[in-house]
Amino acid sequence: MPDLILFNGKLATQDPNFPDATALALRDGSILAVGYDDETRLLAQSHTQCIDLGGRRVLPGLVDSHFHFYDWALGQRGLSLTDTPSLDDVREQVRQATHKVVSGQWIVGQGWNENAWPHPKLPDRADLDDLTPDNPTILWRTDLHLAWVNSRALQVAGITASISDPDMGVIDRGESGQPTGILRELAINLVRRVIPPPTTDETESAMRKAIADAHRLGLTGVHDMRIMGGEDGPPAFRAWQRLRSEKELDLRVWMMLPGERLSEVIALGLRTGFGDDHLRVGGIKLFADGATGPRTAWMLEPFEDAGSGMPLTPLDEIAEIISRAHRAGISTSIHAIGDRAVRELLDVFAEVLPRQGGDVRPLAPHRVEHVQHSHPADLKRLAPLGLVASVQPIHATDDMAMMDHACGDRTRLAYAFRDLLNTGTVLSLGSDCPVASPNPFWGIHAAATRQRRDGTPPGGWRPEQRLTVTEAVWGYTMGPAHAAGLSARQGSLTPGKLADLIVLDRDIFAIPPREIYDAQVLLTIFGGRAVFHAVGFGD
Ligand SMILES: [Zn+2]
Repeated sequence: MPDLILFNGKLATQDPNFPDATALALRDGSILAVGYDDETRLLAQSHTQCIDLGGRRVLPGLVDSHFHFYDWALGQRGLSLTDTPSLDDVREQVRQATHKVVSGQWIVGQGWNENAWPHPKLPDRADLDDLTPDNPTILWRTDLHLAWVNSRALQVAGITASISDPDMGVIDRGESGQPTGILRELAINLVRRVIPPPTTDETESAMRKAIADAHRLGLTGVHDMRIMGGEDGPPAFRAWQRLRSEKELDLRVWMMLPGERLSEVIALGLRTGFGDDHLRVGGIKLFADGATGPRTAWMLEPFEDAGSGMPLTPLDEIAEIISRAHRAGISTSIHAIGDRAVRELLDVFAEVLPRQGGDVRPLAPHRVEHVQHSHPADLKRLAPLGLVASVQPIHATDDMAMMDHACGDRTRLAYAFRDLLNTGTVLSLGSDCPVASPNPFWGIHAAATRQRRDGTPPGGWRPEQRLTVTEAVWGYTMGPAHAAGLSARQGSLTPGKLADLIVLDRDIFAIPPREIYDAQVLLTIFGGRAVFHAVGFGD
């Protein structure tokens, strides 16, 4: 008999056998029945709680398939520089932060983007030094592929004119060879590793708060990515496990492991899918190239204002990693943003996958992260190789001006979600939070309109690549379930699946798509239990 019955709702089940329904019954964390009000309410027993949904729209719990959860959770302790309108504004926030720290203590922040400033020029250490002579300071750019540090941070990290660039990283230098304070890609880790780590308690309370924030946004799961260099891996994995053992992990976490650790993963016998319904080992994450913002994405043709970017992991190494991982039952998840990176990576998959035995495939498909620029000849190659495209619609609307600047006319093939879908590719949607907002309704809005939330540009940016709202919702529900090999457990409101669902204040399928970004979650149910409800709803 059910613990909870929800009725008088408008369910978009994502189950093609039963796409619409009005009621569902939940028991022991799973979905017992999906149907119409009368038949479902007949299942009620004396202890069954019943909630009248008042005709509201119901979706399966949303899953973000590209999320840096640990960085997001801990980043909220530092300065949030997202949407800062100018360098002066950032400086003002840093100035205020100096009042809250003692001498020698770090000031950490993230989210600035010089392209949004009146003078879109990269800042340097001098822009921080007068404010922070005694406090090492690091401020990540919004894409996390570039960081801005002050002289004190350079000094603490031992970065001088005589030090050479690390592998896969660049220390920007002035004319005299002195570091400017801008660090790219893995050069950031030279500083990152000298920042004192948060305590266990700090980490746990930040993660707990972030899980609650996720529920408020309608997220019941994340595919948790690793930062390049993988140094966030162990503390994040430990924190997830502690929360799990304390029964506080009300989130479906699919945990990526750093690609650099493949040998250890194989030596331990870990496979993709190990874990339980709360916390599972996903695949390994590695990087084929950089990002468009810092012009480190690897392109077939040069950027309009820079070179052609660069590969971050040599292709023969990627080929070796994919084949070893595949044979060991481990999925790979490979960041490829530039069209050259996408093409070379597809060549590697096409070369490597057919050579593996059929009996050893991982439980989840391999996937390509971002697929931001792609040549038309390459778009159709993902589906036949069984590759999932993990894409972030909100990047398209956040970055359209920068993309036009970097790529000119070639942006007609940027974020080509419609073309990818038309070739039969499974799209799994996400935000890349904290690179972009984690709000999934902002993602659905961006996918369906290709417009910013202020309605610009009219008609949408490259609107031929729009998805429908239905397709975008699928990309936040069944898409991630497919990507994790969990389509029998998650992703739709189907009897036997996990009871994760959300109730919305408006019907996102019926309203004009431009209004979707403002949708609010009224109720989030995780594992059959309400983990968030808006004031006054469902009490
Ligand atoms: Zn990412």
